[in-house]
Amino acid sequence: MSEKKRPNILFIMSDDHASHAMSCYDSKINKTPHLDRIANEGIRFDNCFCTNAICTPSRASILTGLYNHKNGVKTLGDEIDGRQTTVQKLMKSSGYQTAIIGKWHLGAGGNADPIGFDYWNVFPNQGEYFDPVMYEMGEEKVFKGYATDLVTDMSIEWLKQRDKEKPFMLMCHHKAPHRPWDPDEKHAHMYEDINIPEPPTFHDDYENRAEAAKEARMRIERDLTERDVKDKPPENLSAAELKSWYYQRYIKDYLRCVASIDDNVGRLLNYLDEEELTNDTIVVYTSDQGFFLGDHGWYDKRFMYEESLRMPFIVRYPRAIKPGSVTKDFALNVDFPETFLDYAGIDIPDDMQGTSLRPILEGNTPREWQTSMYYRYWEHLSIEHRVGAHYGLRTHRYKLIYYYGESLGVTDAMDEPRTPTWELFDLEQDYYELNNVYNDPAYSEIVKELKKELYRLKDEVEDYE
Ligand code: CA
Repeated sequence: MSEKKRPNILFIMSDDHASHAMSCYDSKINKTPHLDRIANEGIRFDNCFCTNAICTPSRASILTGLYNHKNGVKTLGDEIDGRQTTVQKLMKSSGYQTAIIGKWHLGAGGNADPIGFDYWNVFPNQGEYFDPVMYEMGEEKVFKGYATDLVTDMSIEWLKQRDKEKPFMLMCHHKAPHRPWDPDEKHAHMYEDINIPEPPTFHDDYENRAEAAKEARMRIERDLTERDVKDKPPENLSAAELKSWYYQRYIKDYLRCVASIDDNVGRLLNYLDEEELTNDTIVVYTSDQGFFLGDHGWYDKRFMYEESLRMPFIVRYPRAIKPGSVTKDFALNVDFPETFLDYAGIDIPDDMQGTSLRPILEGNTPREWQTSMYYRYWEHLSIEHRVGAHYGLRTHRYKLIYYYGESLGVTDAMDEPRTPTWELFDLEQDYYELNNVYNDPAYSEIVKELKKELYRLKDEVEDYE
């Protein structure tokens, strides 16, 4: 492949943006016209999943193509060891210009810095929404403005100064719409006079489930703070009214942050148009995991339940992807780096654990394509949200989850054993995962088959813990 033909890669990733807050995914609560443009001019994945629904581990998987027990980043408290093989190192050494701007959240200093990027300018930890501190090539600076605008401005600036003879891979990583959901001035009054609909599982009572759902501390009416909702709750509200009040405060700010991302994605797409880069650039929009938008009465993520497991994943590349494509084929975060390497014509290292999505993107699903996926959340009962550690299997129809009830000594996990519990959901009968049928005799054969597949996958990814 000649140097000219190698596509550019613009990888835009937000933080905690659930696909059910994007109109191209049939959102009931907002509109995202610029994100929709990527889907309309490219492909939308309806079954893209993260292998661990939390920021730092998902980011590590996207760079290494490895599950977290292999890349060493199992929890929020773990840092990446940049000496391992990463997509950016391979792209850079094969002649790509590489940059990462925005959220990193994989540690700082030494081997935890963004190694393998020609240019990097990243927030420390979660980063701030306003006037953020950033580490530009390791140097601490304060930048005036709103994080989502700044990350976009810097991305465009970097594109302007690049060597136009070489292809690029730019990772544009937004902080938004992560907690504490601070909107900018421009979007601060959106949705002011309307009520955002509550999701169907808003009043979930956590019955017919493992104890883990009840134990989790991410309930809208109980666990959101005044900082989160920027106000004190009014007095004299009934319990139901109070829950709705918290939800409206939370979801409106979340959606305002999303609206700013959408505008800024529009700016980047316009820049590609103006520079006549559109045809030669693979544009990806995704988020490190999904999020509960009041679903099950929750905010946050971590669980293997659909709203948090599912990643938005839309890709445009006019030279190879048919506009308006939609696929239900499985895609995983560990597949992303292999996909970029494939398009760049770089050999995929044998030890990367994902698979290039190129055939799916181009509408040629291989006969033996993955129909099951392995998930693992390690942070047993960690202090903030108290979600029990679990691993599990998802197929097109079923989801099997095992809460193993131990910390196993990983960072941030609490040494508070729980009785191990299984959950099985029949997604065809129970789309919202409200009814655990693990102990239902009608499913006993299914359970046997799924366990076999779960242990096969554990073996395949070499997770023996
Ligand atoms: Ca996240």
